[in-house]
Amino acid sequence: MNVFVTGGAGYIGSVCTEELLNAGHSVTVYDDLSEGHRRAVDPRARFVLGRPEADGNILNAVKQASPEAVLHFAASALVGESMVNPGKYFHNNVANGLRLLEAATSVGVKKFVFSSTCATYGPPERLPMTEDLPQRPINPYGESKLMFERMLHWYHELHGLEFVAFRYFNAAGASERFGEHHRIETHLIPNVLKVALGQSEQCEIYGTDYPTSDGTCIRDYIHIVDLAQAHILALEPGKQGFYNLGNGDGYSVRQVIQTCEQIAGCQIPAIEKPRRPGDPPKLVAAAAKAIRELSWKPAFTKLEDIIRTAWTWHKNHPHGYPD
Ligand code: UDP
Repeated sequence: MNVFVTGGAGYIGSVCTEELLNAGHSVTVYDDLSEGHRRAVDPRARFVLGRPEADGNILNAVKQASPEAVLHFAASALVGESMVNPGKYFHNNVANGLRLLEAATSVGVKKFVFSSTCATYGPPERLPMTEDLPQRPINPYGESKLMFERMLHWYHELHGLEFVAFRYFNAAGASERFGEHHRIETHLIPNVLKVALGQSEQCEIYGTDYPTSDGTCIRDYIHIVDLAQAHILALEPGKQGFYNLGNGDGYSVRQVIQTCEQIAGCQIPAIEKPRRPGDPPKLVAAAAKAIRELSWKPAFTKLEDIIRTAWTWHKNHPHGYPD
């Protein structure tokens, strides 16, 4: 299939592009490189340097690629930043997303696959979280992704656009070639591994007074290659709807740090900091719907196996991608 991948130079998009190519699809990556890295784009893909703000830029790129499917990864995706700069999130994730959606429908794209998030739920009423839980985001990041989900619903109803929206839990790990490199790193696992690499003195724990077993936030970590596989399954005709992608196991911030210590074979000092605004205490997926309806089979079900791939990648790329 001919696919158009926005954000294909970013962490999740780069691994998904690699897996799409491995599965025999042809890929055009559209990325403005604001967060992504040119070196993270698989050389087998065609690369278009995006300028999503420029009038007609997205439309022209989509027209030129003439894809059968669009996979939309490009987004601003930091909970903490969204609490400080909400406009960036509504602009990039909603306004620019709408341009892409319009472009996709105007050229008759058959399938739209969207990177949504568990942040659309807000603090859940029960765990593990099924797709039918109420969506009440507590940060602009989650709200902006929910707004795009609603747009997809209406484009499906009114234009017949088939879509799959994946609500990711916490993406982690690496493929052999591509891994996680943010210019300003805010994510837990890479920040903890930086200490093991000797690049920082200590890691930080944001909040130790949550209503959880050890007082720190609980998240569900899912391997990046497993995420990518779900996107490939979503391309099959007839697949449609909203799906959680997670492992169904929750790990606290302290448990993540301990697992990193075991894998890296060193002590990782941590200091306790106040809560980070916008963080729900516990997010754990029920992914039975994706397993049942998409025949999705995550291969990395243990946190240690996920972190091991991240550790290998970071050791091989201690400074990430050269820019
Ligand atoms: N976190 C932390 N220290 C860090 C980065 C994150 O304690 O240096 C916490 C964060 O507050 C959240 C969890 O780790 O509870 C996962 O955060 P991350 O930013 O990796 O992903 P998010 O859940 O925000 O998508």
